[in-house]
Amino acid sequence: MPAIERRDLVIVGGGPGGSGTALALERIAPELAARTLVLDRADFPRDKTCAGGLIPHTLELLESLDLSLDVPSVRVDHARVEAGGSEALAIPSPGCCWVIRRREFDAMLLAAARARGVEVRTGVAVRDASRSGEWIRLETTAGPLEARAVVGADGSGSLVRRRLVDADEGWIARAVMSDVPIDAPAAPDVYEFDFRDVPDGLAGYAWSFPCLIEGRPHWNVGVYSLRRGGEGGRLGRLLEKRAEGVAERKAHPIRLYDEGRPLAAPGVLLVGDAGGVDPLLGEGISFALEYGRHAALTLRDAFAAGDLRFPDYTARIAGSPLGKKLRRLAMGARLFYGPKSAFWFRVARFSRTAQRIGMNWYNGVGLWNPPVVALPRAERTSVDGSRYGTAEPDHWRTTWQRQ
Ligand SMILES: Cc1cc2nc3c(=O)[nH]c(=O)nc-3n(C[C@H](O)[C@H](O)[C@H](O)COP(=O)(O)OP(=O)(O)OC[C@H]3O[C@@H](n4cnc5c(N)ncnc54)[C@H](O)[C@@H]3O)c2cc1C
Repeated sequence: MPAIERRDLVIVGGGPGGSGTALALERIAPELAARTLVLDRADFPRDKTCAGGLIPHTLELLESLDLSLDVPSVRVDHARVEAGGSEALAIPSPGCCWVIRRREFDAMLLAAARARGVEVRTGVAVRDASRSGEWIRLETTAGPLEARAVVGADGSGSLVRRRLVDADEGWIARAVMSDVPIDAPAAPDVYEFDFRDVPDGLAGYAWSFPCLIEGRPHWNVGVYSLRRGGEGGRLGRLLEKRAEGVAERKAHPIRLYDEGRPLAAPGVLLVGDAGGVDPLLGEGISFALEYGRHAALTLRDAFAAGDLRFPDYTARIAGSPLGKKLRRLAMGARLFYGPKSAFWFRVARFSRTAQRIGMNWYNGVGLWNPPVVALPRAERTSVDGSRYGTAEPDHWRTTWQRQ
């Protein structure tokens, strides 16, 4: 019988959560990264149902991994927010968002991880996961594997989470979207958030984001709801108003951060949608990259100590700026989509200054946010045997459209 393949670390999922973990690991613990395997059931480039809006903080996180946004994108400079008043709020906000297509963005991240020495296997699905003594056993479409540690980066429906960390269904939102071609030479530089259906009971909003699909301008339009069931057809009807006559609709769940749920178990860490993201607007790409940084730091220290139980990871996330932001967004979702929503929208409409501060806070820029700290780059040995890199973190902050 052939010996079963054994790895120190397997990352299940090659989206931003999985790639972000691999890239952060390569920076701070390159030897562990070189012993890591990323598995994804899809062949890349692959589509992902997502509006593809990147808040500026995402670009800072990419920069902290020595990456730039090397894919087509549309820069957004103005926000239009329908918050229930007599007219829409127009908020000038230079560089408040870059809209990418996930097909291109995720392939770029995964290719970077591979180019930096992390082994990636695509077209391989994990069908089951269980414990086998000290090992985590993964049944994959390419045969069984055993790993000392596994990162569940397998999205909202995470099998790793269900089988190894938390059988509870958790808090799940839903979003539907369509792409509508625009008859114009260039994509607009404005995006829209529309909360006008909240008084009728929608626990969410509709959006229009400008984007480029194969070089052609489109609106990505969609509707988000905190309720996973699609609100009895309401999401489809609201989408139809924004994407009249467009045949193709895509829907996908979004797992939301719930402070009460575990994010780790012995040998297993969750990142990105598998862990849970923003309940207010359903944003998850920046959070997936942030989770990846925490997972990488946790893995580096755990492998160094020879203890892979990860007892502190859930509390580490909760106590970090990532966890604090997610908790505030969860509170925001309860206020803005709850029984007193009319009051909170009135408050939000009241002050231009508060709107600007709120938007900067959400986007991760400005004085209200802690600086992004570069990951400490581990020393490496180059081919001639000399050492390079530094064990010290360099503290910096980029200037992405800071206002
Ligand atoms: C309609 C919609 C619009 C959104 N718009 C935005 C937005 O504008 N901005 C934003 O920041 N966020 C947005 N989000 C949220 C965002 O898409 C997610 O938060 C983000 O994709 C999370 O990244 P991830 O890597 O954790 O998971 P994913 O991107 O879902 O990646 C998971 C990966 O795991 C793989 N996988 C899953 N199961 C297995 C398995 N069993 N075996 C092997 N591989 C597996 C999948 O193929 C996939 O590649 C939106 C979501 C939706 C649904």
